Amino acid sequence: MTIRTVVWGENVHEQKNKIVAQIYPQGMHQCIADALNTDPAISATCATLQEPVHGLPAARLAETDVLIWWGHAAHGDVKDEVVERVVQAVWSGMGLIVLHSGHFSKPFKRLMGTSCNLTWREAGERERLWLTSRNHPIAAGLPAHFELENEEMYGEPFGVPDPLETVFVSWFQGGEVFRSGLTYKRGAGSIFYFRPGHETYPTYHDANVQKVIANAVKWAHNPQPRIENVTLAPNVPVETALEPIEQRGPRLHQAGEEGFH
Ligand code: ZN
Repeated sequence: MTIRTVVWGENVHEQKNKIVAQIYPQGMHQCIADALNTDPAISATCATLQEPVHGLPAARLAETDVLIWWGHAAHGDVKDEVVERVVQAVWSGMGLIVLHSGHFSKPFKRLMGTSCNLTWREAGERERLWLTSRNHPIAAGLPAHFELENEEMYGEPFGVPDPLETVFVSWFQGGEVFRSGLTYKRGAGSIFYFRPGHETYPTYHDANVQKVIANAVKWAHNPQPRIENVTLAPNVPVETALEPIEQRGPRLHQAGEEGFH
């Protein structure tokens, strides 16, 4: 069975900005999905902000192995109920890949629990990505470093928690550096943040970038069944304890009472 992947695109600048529309006539999300679909192990479809519930109803997320998220201008328009659904899907085992300006998206900020801020400059400068975790599955088949001739600069400090692994570090022509490929685990879900992808440059047409994203889909895919009711916090009554125990001392809750959430 192929890895069921949904590429979520905000799809705002593709509609409003001529340069972006020229580079990505079908949208960045479709460009990314087309590249993924050349890999026989992956089946990618798209979802956009403008669809009902942003194209991410519960039934679709339940059948999504890996979700890819690109957003920039309209993070605030993403409905909180959808954010909650995405976050819970990650906790229960769905993979999540967050691209470029998705660092400020609601799901990513929620999952990181930090500001996710950074420094930036839009000057079309050269970005050189250095592979910092050799033999990492996300870097499979990639050279020790590769370049994107025109990119937006993102600089440190990047306001994220320390990652599990740093797979790439970027250098920019202006002198800044940035941790540009980071892995996290949240609940049962694997998360990869990948920096490149400013919309006015053809970054998602780049073969190395496409390779990273395809590798990341395979890395983030969790073949185990999704954990059901991932936020349940059930009480275990005295009578059902594995070893016989007696109720002792004062208690706050009556037997069978629901706990506080
Ligand atoms: Zn950007």
